[in-house]
Amino acid sequence: MSVPNSTILPRSNLISGDEAFEFDGAAEILRAWGAGLTPDADLTLSEWADRHRMLSGRASAEPGRYRTARTPYMGEIMDRLSPGDPTQRIVFMKAAQVGATEAGNNWIGFAIDQAPGPMLAVQPTVELAKRNSRQRIDPLIDESPELRDRVKPARSRDAGNTMLSKEFAGGILIMTGANSAVGLRSTPARYIFLDEVDAYPASADEEGDPVTLAEARSLTFAHRRKVFLVSTPTIRGLSRIEREFEASDQRRFFVPCPNCGQEQWLKFERLRWQKGRPETAEYHCEGCETPIAEHQKTTMLECGEWRATATAADPGTVGYHLSALYSPIGWLSWERIVRAWDAAQGSDEAIKAFRNTILGETWVETGEAPDWQRLYDQRERWKPGIVPAGGLFLTAGADVQKDRIEVDVWAWGRGLESWLVDHIVIEGRLHRDAQRLRRGRRRDQVPPRLRRQGHRLARPLQEPGRVNRANPDI
Ligand SMILES: [Zn+2]
Repeated sequence: MSVPNSTILPRSNLISGDEAFEFDGAAEILRAWGAGLTPDADLTLSEWADRHRMLSGRASAEPGRYRTARTPYMGEIMDRLSPGDPTQRIVFMKAAQVGATEAGNNWIGFAIDQAPGPMLAVQPTVELAKRNSRQRIDPLIDESPELRDRVKPARSRDAGNTMLSKEFAGGILIMTGANSAVGLRSTPARYIFLDEVDAYPASADEEGDPVTLAEARSLTFAHRRKVFLVSTPTIRGLSRIEREFEASDQRRFFVPCPNCGQEQWLKFERLRWQKGRPETAEYHCEGCETPIAEHQKTTMLECGEWRATATAADPGTVGYHLSALYSPIGWLSWERIVRAWDAAQGSDEAIKAFRNTILGETWVETGEAPDWQRLYDQRERWKPGIVPAGGLFLTAGADVQKDRIEVDVWAWGRGLESWLVDHIVIEGRLHRDAQRLRRGRRRDQVPPRLRRQGHRLARPLQEPGRVNRANPDI
């Protein structure tokens, strides 16, 4: 690499007198050069948000200056996303209405203003990504002067700034949907924001798990990368965010009892009320059993802190869980939570929604028969003729019809897991196929594309019936 002049000449010469820099645009080039050399800011994300983030009346119920003190539990989570913190993966399993979306938007703003780099923000679908861009990202940029100056203005013929991509000095924000493999593979990204991951499809365009695809974009950034996974959970066993949380250090927000001082994390079972009177809801301390009124929550949140309750499988990952019991005063009250609970009784669907969106916990499916959605979501996809990893041997079954033979080739793995690997239709009348089979194919023969992978059929099966007389060899 050539040595830049700035290391040889005094800096003042460069800007004021050196002839080499007396041309149109020189100042702009120097400014960009300087910006490129600027290290990431020491400012943490929460400090930046308190100074610079304005909440738009278009997108926020509480327009005006953002205050981390309003949702104190978001402070640590946001600061993990700051470049000065070594954490690479941040997992947040949460209820609705706890302020996570604004924290994610703060991160986007911070990355544009303070620590530029390529960023990928993923919503469950491309449609949702477009809506999010219009309703949240545009106001985020428009309402904060620092951001407005840095992001290229949208012009109809400017490819640098479209609904799904925002270019800024030193970086670009790409927004896409988890249903688009093309979008997920678009560019290497230092920052990856995976929002509502439990609503992602099992596979993006049949190319595999969208979270894995997206995260792969960040690997070249090594220790400088940040991945933020956020979601309200769904069903136990299928929930991505719960799986991630359980592999993390499982942080809970501990708050002190105003009466005895015991620090504890808030649990729905300790919310008590008189039957039929949700307005009497109070929280009962697990140390002294004294009821705590909701107005005391503000002080409790101020004094709260996150504590790990497990050892993370990966030391580079931290995980947080938060229920709506922590919602600040004026958002979702304990009384409304009790009303929602009472109203949900008698309906599995309503209780599931309560657990997911208010407690931020998964729902355990009951009953013998899984519902169609559960089965449907467990689909895996692979290309015909390819034996998935885990397939140990193949069997084939032939269904003989009057004018064709249909052959299914199955791969079998441990625990009797099986995959339909290929479906072959041999057209023609039965006696001709029988002759062809006798002439050409041995009974253990497999289709050429499987043979190239080194597979043989362990046992060809056949549908019992009329085939035996026509072709006893199959
Ligand atoms: Zn107490």
